[in-house]
Amino acid sequence: MGKRVYFFGNGKADGDAAQRNLLGGKGANLAEMTNLGLPVPPGFTITTEVCAEYEKGSSEATIERLQQPVDAALRSIEGILDRKFGSAERPLLLSVRSGARVSMPGMMDTVLNLGLNDRTVRGLARLSGNERFALDSYRRFLQMFGDVVMGVDGELFEHALDQAKDSKGYGADTQLDAGDMAKLVDRFQQIIRDAAGKEFPQDPYEQLWQSVMAVFRSWGNDRAVAYRGMHGISGAWGTAVNVQAMVFGNMGDDCATGVAFTRNPSTGERAFYGEYLVNAQGEDVVAGVRKPLPIGRSDGGEESLEAIMPEVHGMLIATAENLERHYRDMLDLEFTIQNSKLWMLQARSGKRTGAAAVRIAVEMVSEGLIDQKTALQRVSPEQLEQLLHPAVDPNAAYEVLARGLPASPGAASGGLAFSAEEAVEASAQGRRVLLVRRETSPEDIRGMEAAAGILTQRGGMTSHAAVVARGMGKCCIAGCSELQLDEAAGVLMIGQKRFDRDSRLTLNGNTGEILEGEVATVEAELEDDFRTLLAWANEHRRLHVRANADTPDDSRRARAFGAEGIGLCRTEHMFFGEDRIAAVREMIVSQSKEQRQRALAKLLPFQRDDFVGIFEAMDGLPVTIRLLDPPLHEFLPHADDEIQRLARELEVPAEKMRRIVEGLSEFNPMLGHRGCRLGLSFPEIYMMQVEAILRAACEAKRRGIVPIPEIMIPLVGIREELAQLRELTISRADSVLRDEGVELAYSVGTMIEIPRACMVADKIAEVADFFSFGTNDLTQMGFGFSRDDAGSFLPYYVESGVLPRDPFQSLDEEGIGALVESACRLGRVTKPDLKLGVCGEHGGDPSSVAFFHRAGLDYVSCSPYRVPVAILAAAQAALAERALA
Ligand code: ADP
Ligand code: MG
Ligand code: MG
Repeated sequence: MGKRVYFFGNGKADGDAAQRNLLGGKGANLAEMTNLGLPVPPGFTITTEVCAEYEKGSSEATIERLQQPVDAALRSIEGILDRKFGSAERPLLLSVRSGARVSMPGMMDTVLNLGLNDRTVRGLARLSGNERFALDSYRRFLQMFGDVVMGVDGELFEHALDQAKDSKGYGADTQLDAGDMAKLVDRFQQIIRDAAGKEFPQDPYEQLWQSVMAVFRSWGNDRAVAYRGMHGISGAWGTAVNVQAMVFGNMGDDCATGVAFTRNPSTGERAFYGEYLVNAQGEDVVAGVRKPLPIGRSDGGEESLEAIMPEVHGMLIATAENLERHYRDMLDLEFTIQNSKLWMLQARSGKRTGAAAVRIAVEMVSEGLIDQKTALQRVSPEQLEQLLHPAVDPNAAYEVLARGLPASPGAASGGLAFSAEEAVEASAQGRRVLLVRRETSPEDIRGMEAAAGILTQRGGMTSHAAVVARGMGKCCIAGCSELQLDEAAGVLMIGQKRFDRDSRLTLNGNTGEILEGEVATVEAELEDDFRTLLAWANEHRRLHVRANADTPDDSRRARAFGAEGIGLCRTEHMFFGEDRIAAVREMIVSQSKEQRQRALAKLLPFQRDDFVGIFEAMDGLPVTIRLLDPPLHEFLPHADDEIQRLARELEVPAEKMRRIVEGLSEFNPMLGHRGCRLGLSFPEIYMMQVEAILRAACEAKRRGIVPIPEIMIPLVGIREELAQLRELTISRADSVLRDEGVELAYSVGTMIEIPRACMVADKIAEVADFFSFGTNDLTQMGFGFSRDDAGSFLPYYVESGVLPRDPFQSLDEEGIGALVESACRLGRVTKPDLKLGVCGEHGGDPSSVAFFHRAGLDYVSCSPYRVPVAILAAAQAALAERALA
């Protein structure tokens, strides 16, 4: 074990920003800011390694090892500030803050004003000449220590504070005077005594060690574990502990505390953006104790920090610019002003919406702060997806019920949920709900994930709800004080209107408006910055990106999003069209080949026209069309009255129809008569489709379009399956071309989705022009997990660590990935230029895309909305590879 304690103060720090893994994000940046000569209160960081050591050992052993270096660091702080920890004359007060490698908002709580007790509080009062301030600090400390360290329910303190205010008829906590505060201090000590069954510790060292241990302990609490699970953060990393001298924003009217972003976190606009509160401390701003005020004059007018403390404001802006140039990133800052002096308490890369991420990345390139490659790595692929989400239709008529802060953009509508549990439950039942809360806290995270949108009554743009929703890309309106909320009863009043769980509301996260009912939404337009970023991504990626699209409309949208072709066009979706299903059913229940061919002849023109539209949308780009895949019974009705109706329509006795339907039903249809198995037993179905594809291609070509059809045979596991169907396909296709008198290149390949196919891919490649991995089925069959039934055990597998994540969302590289790699290798042994693609859901999952890049595939294909996501992920994969080379 290296050094356990890293000091920072007086312009020099032991660590720096590069030591994020060891010092945590907060500690590393406090060190960096200190080295930059910025005003940072002195302190020290206990490393993340000590947390790991604590987890394996005991509190006693951990404290024993820390004693000497912590004492030394405390002496240095005391020297710089001319204060002494525990002294009744010149008491040094400390904050104890957690800080992991990546920021985990609100996961672990901070203890402020540590070192206060019944004696030192008098020293603080004398020293500051402000008794009210000293007592205010003390009652805050008692509450935080009681809550975070001693496990006393924080509500008890809040309740006592409310009582104190109410009994005096005060609106705000700033109206409480020294006498009131002294009573609160007594009351809070009593609350601790009653609830914890022991005294609050008067000894400052005891307070310090208990707090440090509480931070380490909190690494393992449920909230932290849940957050890590959701964000793929390893439990082994541990948290650092930052112990730092206190500065005070609550000493009077020339004091304040605030949070700020160096650019607007919602839009990305290059404008300093933040909120502050006069005479306040710590989390008052984020917790919504009082309504925070805007920092800039343009937003806050005469109430702004800019107007009230112009000089400090100037310092703050200069510091922010300095830091942005240094970090070359948009930053999230926390600061406190004590007697008109600015202190920096935190800097970190600011969370931002997808729109802001794109704009900031592109603008920082033109400002010369970063290069294109860095810009590409600054936007997460998932964030791009947000930009493609719908907004409230500007032409829709609606009534605005109330306005809050536009905390996270997008639009969402649904019923109402008044607690996180309700939201989780509703979404499990497939209901779309908006989570409506007074304010949110980290306990609500699961409910926020489950909800379609979030609405809060309190809190500002930097409140918990706002920050977390932006991170999730979820629409959120915060701080809507017009709401009257009874969470327990499940009732929301807006003015005279009453809403309950069954009511419907719409949130417009772009404007902060709450709308009555479910209001129509429209698709997003791609902004210039977005196109610029995608253009850069295109320069750097090797993987091509196609879309899965079944209709001309979807194809056009996919192309507008940057798709370079269609990787999967599912023909069966076309069969369900209202004008076609009758012919499809007639075809299925046919008793002879002739009858079947008559029904198919009716379908052919429909299929041909579908394909013409798709070729047109994808002019000059490849279109992979999969021949019929699902088992036939999926197209037949199963309810008795519908069977009877079909029998009448097709003039077949009802009894016979029932037998046909029964005869087609299977024990395990996913493993049954489907895919190429259908193609082999009913070749006329596939041949109709082949003819429709080729006739459509000829028609398109006559119209001046360049069609590139790729015919894909699904579910092949045996070389002979494909060999036979390929021969039939080519002979039919060529006869169509001769008949039409058109020359046209087409290819015939297969989907690789059966594990056996991966093992005999060299043989299959002999008769395939391309492979397209159907990773959904490959995952299903590779694991032996039924996709439709896995819901009953897969969540448990992921939660309990049997599997690191859901293999249907992110490719299981170890197993299914190995199958993919085997098929690629074997296939290319036979045909070095065999074209390889992926058309499963994984084609739009960023980490899977990175895997497919490494595996040497030619393209991925995903839903139109995820095309930009895959494009960026492909560029990032290529950049990561070059960085390693
Ligand atoms: P989080 O990780 O939740 O942001 P922090 O450790 O940054 O928690 O602490 C929360 C707030 O506590 C800070 O924003 C700041 O206002 C206050 N705070 C922390 N340390 C100090 C300090 N040394 N002096 C004054 N206020 C502090
Ligand atoms: Mg916090
Ligand atoms: Mg902070």
